[in-house]
Amino acid sequence: MKIKFFKKNRNSFLNKIYKLEIYFCIITLWSCSEQLMLSEEAYILDNITIIDPIDGLQKNKQVVIENGTISLILDNENKNFFREKKVYNGYGKYLIPGLWDAHVHFSFNKHFTYSMHKLFLAYGVTSVRDTGGPMGIVAKIKDSSNVNPMTYPNVFYAGPLIDGSPSVYNNSSPSFPLLSIENKSSKDLESNTLEILSKEVDFLKAYEMLNEEQLFVLTEIGRRKGLNVTGHIPLSMNLYSAVKAGLNGMEHLRNIELSVAQNSKELLLERKLMLKNPDRLEGSKLRASIHQKQRMSSIESMDDNELERAAQFLAKNNVWQTPTLILYRNYATKSFKDSIFISSLDQLPQIVKEGWRIEIDKTDTIINNNSIRYSNWMFNIVKKLHQHSVPFMAGTDTPIGYLIPGISLHRELELLVKCGFSNLEAIQTATINPALYFGLENKLGRIKEGFQADMVILNENPLEKISNTKTIQAVIKSGNFLSRKYLDSLMLKDKAVSVN
Ligand SMILES: [Zn+2]
Repeated sequence: MKIKFFKKNRNSFLNKIYKLEIYFCIITLWSCSEQLMLSEEAYILDNITIIDPIDGLQKNKQVVIENGTISLILDNENKNFFREKKVYNGYGKYLIPGLWDAHVHFSFNKHFTYSMHKLFLAYGVTSVRDTGGPMGIVAKIKDSSNVNPMTYPNVFYAGPLIDGSPSVYNNSSPSFPLLSIENKSSKDLESNTLEILSKEVDFLKAYEMLNEEQLFVLTEIGRRKGLNVTGHIPLSMNLYSAVKAGLNGMEHLRNIELSVAQNSKELLLERKLMLKNPDRLEGSKLRASIHQKQRMSSIESMDDNELERAAQFLAKNNVWQTPTLILYRNYATKSFKDSIFISSLDQLPQIVKEGWRIEIDKTDTIINNNSIRYSNWMFNIVKKLHQHSVPFMAGTDTPIGYLIPGISLHRELELLVKCGFSNLEAIQTATINPALYFGLENKLGRIKEGFQADMVILNENPLEKISNTKTIQAVIKSGNFLSRKYLDSLMLKDKAVSVN
């Protein structure tokens, strides 16, 4: 790929200034000699506005990128130190850390598995958390990322969903591919989880059909190995018992509603009976029957005091939330039927595009009131939990629900802002927060010296309007500068056009 840089203006006056600055530097800065010895491939983003998720907006900065790392950040007046280096003119541009999508499934659509990474990068998503898939596939994706760090997002993965019996994602239909591992007993769960751990997963994912004892076994293994256990609150438990067992992350706010309803105790008893599965339903159908029976009625009978108690409890226990608001909003509004969305399918590989078009054509346009109510309920819960400082990560569930990798993350940020996050807080959910979740807060997710050079150059300020995160001019992955033209080629665009 070709990297395009803008040459700096040099004239004799500036050369004189440059010399003066060098003398000044030698006298005053012990690190000057070090600064002048940049490696051959080092380059500079000049006169750019940094938006760091912690320190906020900083104007007129010069960012030096060297060996895949942000090696120096200087005020712009020092820029002539490096006049022999390649320089990108960042005037009028904004620099944010590379974004994370904290909920993706590389293995959900086998035709998409090995090309999703391109769209992530094209939209500035430089790190992803794969929240469930067969080990053989997701481990291969992680290897690809390790081998090609400059053209692949960083991949953090859970391996398969660890489910009870009957399991939900058991390859019963295209909507339920084999993403999970079924565990009939706690002993099975222990041996299967240890097998998963031998592949060096980054976290573990608990699923909905686990029984109480199985969740305990799983979280105990997680504790021993120092791994987070995220997931859905198992249907056999409530929010409190699951968190006390050690579940420290929740996806899609799943099953929280069952624990904040006025009749939550009765609902739990009823669920436990249903989970005995007298009709021998398969996992996806058994789960659906429970949700159908309990979800909407729980939302209708939500107890504000119970919600307050739950919010305080989740905040106190630092239980990470990845609500994937966009997934449910999309289902509710059926925005995938819009002509604008349909035309955006051109950026997908042909076989994926055709498959999605056929499915979308078959879907009617009738809006289901319950789906809207559920999505609105999610907004309210996110707002409430955020007010209580429960930690959040931005995630989407792509490619489920016709969510296009990359762009859907930007939509998730917009929805978080609708739920009361400031623009900077929304950016945090896709930068420093997931880094913190993995204990990588000193390496990823910020624009600071010594951090991995994963960054996005924007044309417009996202602190003024969150959708400006989409005005991507370039992406830097592990120090590799990916121009707008190159990003367009990842989106299968013939000609260079800007993203809107
Ligand atoms: Zn998922």
